[in-house]
Amino acid sequence: MRVKVLGSAAGGGFPQWNCGCSNCNRIRAGVLKGRVRTQAQVAISAAHGKWLLLNASPDLRQQILENPEFAPAEETRSTPIVGIILTSADVDCVMGLLHLREFQPLVIYATAGVRRVLTEENSLFRTLMRAIPPVRWESLEIGKPVGVHQDSAAGTGAGLHCTAVSVGGAFPDYVSDALRRNLPEQEAVIGLEFCADGKRFFYAPNLPGRGEEWKRHASESNLALLDATFWTDDELVRVRGSGKTAREMGHLPLSGANGLLDQFKDVKNVRRVLIHMNNTNPALDEESPANRELRDAGWEIATDGMEMDV
Ligand SMILES: [Zn+2]
Repeated sequence: MRVKVLGSAAGGGFPQWNCGCSNCNRIRAGVLKGRVRTQAQVAISAAHGKWLLLNASPDLRQQILENPEFAPAEETRSTPIVGIILTSADVDCVMGLLHLREFQPLVIYATAGVRRVLTEENSLFRTLMRAIPPVRWESLEIGKPVGVHQDSAAGTGAGLHCTAVSVGGAFPDYVSDALRRNLPEQEAVIGLEFCADGKRFFYAPNLPGRGEEWKRHASESNLALLDATFWTDDELVRVRGSGKTAREMGHLPLSGANGLLDQFKDVKNVRRVLIHMNNTNPALDEESPANRELRDAGWEIATDGMEMDV
């Protein structure tokens, strides 16, 4: 499996257009040792020239154009992107689907709940159905491996399997109460476990951290790419002066008791990489104590363009 990070920041990117926090101000002024980042986007390939997108970020058009492996073959209207796998219906995970609407037949894998949110209440996404054949939705059931075949010949997939792992979490605020009541909450936010050639990759850019199931999958993988939105639980409250904590927003903070670092302090054999870092996260500053603490604990921080083989 080849895993490519096309974007590594949380919603808003880094810097965020309307944010004047210390990080955003300093990177605009060119005095922060760190990198600008687009919004979280990952692509995975287990077959030559075939890619699956993990979510579809608001920056997707730019991210596709900046990476030559996603260019169409010469003189064709085509794409090496064969499908998209969604981890939630959050705006940051699905907005990029609208960048893919140019009459391109694609497969979208999502839980039934996420599919219903997008197709029943958000008619804008029906624009994807204009392709011939139209975009095909495939259901991901919690705990059930699905062959996400990357070979165009039916039944001769590259052996890439994806399992939806429940991570706890809720459907986005924009979902109506009427629909929300009819959706199983375990389908709201999932992690993805990929298996190919006996190797495992676990992806969870939104990790509320409830339950133990996700942790087992992350700990048993060869590569875990995990939610690094916030360093502390009250990070956004401090910057904005009010609002929700990291945990209330569905993100396990990195630091503190029972934070991500604490929970993984005994896990050594997994390559652990952090993604989806919010622009307020002090670890974006490569000279900060937070950044040092992450590196000392054996974590890597994803950057736009980073590639990993599993
Ligand atoms: Zn900021």
